[in-house]
Amino acid sequence: MNNDELLAALGLDPARLRVGDLAVRSPIDGAEIARVATDDARGLDSKIARAAAAFAAWRTVPAPRRGELIRLFSETLRRNKAALGRLVTIENGKILQEGLGEVQEMIDICDFAVGLSRQLYGLTIASERPGHRMMETWHPLGPIGVISAFNFPVAVWSWNFAIAIVCGDPVVWKPSEKTPLTALACQALFERAVHEFGGAPDGLSSVAIGGGSLDAALAADRRLPLVSATGSVPMGRAVAQAVAARLGRALLELGGNNAMIIAPSADLDLAVRAILYAVVGTAGQRCTTLRRLIVHEDVRDALRRRLVAAYASIPIGSPLDPGTLVGPLIDARAFEAMAAALARARRDGGTVHGGERVAAARHPDAYYVRPAIVEMPAQTSIVADETFAPILYVLGYRTLDAAIGLQNAVPQGLASSIFTNDLREAETFLSAVGSDCGIANVNIGPSGAEIGGAFGGEKETGGGRESGSDSWKAYMRRATNTINYSRDLPLAQGIVFPAG
Ligand code: NAD
Repeated sequence: MNNDELLAALGLDPARLRVGDLAVRSPIDGAEIARVATDDARGLDSKIARAAAAFAAWRTVPAPRRGELIRLFSETLRRNKAALGRLVTIENGKILQEGLGEVQEMIDICDFAVGLSRQLYGLTIASERPGHRMMETWHPLGPIGVISAFNFPVAVWSWNFAIAIVCGDPVVWKPSEKTPLTALACQALFERAVHEFGGAPDGLSSVAIGGGSLDAALAADRRLPLVSATGSVPMGRAVAQAVAARLGRALLELGGNNAMIIAPSADLDLAVRAILYAVVGTAGQRCTTLRRLIVHEDVRDALRRRLVAAYASIPIGSPLDPGTLVGPLIDARAFEAMAAALARARRDGGTVHGGERVAAARHPDAYYVRPAIVEMPAQTSIVADETFAPILYVLGYRTLDAAIGLQNAVPQGLASSIFTNDLREAETFLSAVGSDCGIANVNIGPSGAEIGGAFGGEKETGGGRESGSDSWKAYMRRATNTINYSRDLPLAQGIVFPAG
């Protein structure tokens, strides 16, 4: 199937995708694969207006019925998993297994949301007043703005989208300008589900294509009570300030600088496999990518030797080739950032293994790199930065307290893990004095989360939670209701207020 056939299979018109003002390039070879029309401020404004109008109708549709639309969407995704997964790989460069995994994640969150549509529970609360009852009711919040990053071009939107739709909220999506095609394909697939559903309001879902100026307009728009933004810390800072200026709600999923502690009792075979997947998966371009390895001095040399040997045989190449484990970086800027980080690490006394560009002659406009291992004498400022590339900094430790101290001494707080067979160490790591991250794992790497848990992190990662558990509450408004079924009017706190 060529690209045009792929786009057509996903419901897009290839002819219309040749004339837009935004060039879309595949990181596989740097070639232009489409030209997409961008939205201007007026285009965005009309999409938000349509979403606001859709909200007025959609909030009155019973939640289980809203769930039925998401069930139909998940059926559409199941039928188109191969095509959409392939488009993710072509546009984003992650290996095909991961492209398909992203679509599976969309299906999983849809299934979760369908179940959730019958479980948007509130509490009943004991009232201190006789003849009174208190309860919480959850109502749809309003149209939601979703800003997403290039590295999970469809899954992160779906975490927001599936939950928002069952909660009664239309969604205006501003995807990364590096991955607009997959966003348009998701919209086209959703429209098929809407058609099958019948009677959903126009404007329930829309996609606005463009760069940071659109995000700024989205963040400032009072018609969007919630803006859910996934991306870098500078983006989150800008969006959060604009949303806060109008006292709106921001759900932030920002950068991570994820660590793994390797204790002396760790199963090193398991650890090496977990490290490899967590570091080189998505070519090091996951928010949960493992970036810092904190290894007990007793096992540091043994682990380093095994890792350097394992890295030497990692297949790097086209992400469409089934044998490949590491595809390309997204673009030249990503490669330059990686090279600059490695140069800084060397200046800080680091010893670098790997990290060089490969296949440059064959692909002058694509950026394939050998993942790097960097042995660091200390956690210097470059280690505390998130460089969005496959670089693993290795640090040593002597006591668990020191290891946890190192792991927490960075501005980000997304994902973390420990490899240990010592119960005391594992429980300490998970306790209040352990990892300060939103995700803390034992004997499994920091990446590859399931949708059933709440996903997100602390500190500069932004504090937002998406996906499973009770993350849905961010997409609804809570009303506390007090009902008086007595013939009296007792006041709370025993206040006596004589009738006049
Ligand atoms: P990015 O911040 O460059 O772009 C993300 C989105 O924000 C895009 O839609 C972009 O158009 C927009 N944007 C960029 N700068 C902006 C600004 N100043 N104001 C308003 N909008 C702006 O991020 P990226 O390179 O696409 O993605 C990589 C980053 O995303 C990494 O930091 C990664 O850790 C993070 N990320 C976090 C999560 C998470 O769940 N915590 C998930 C995926 C990616």
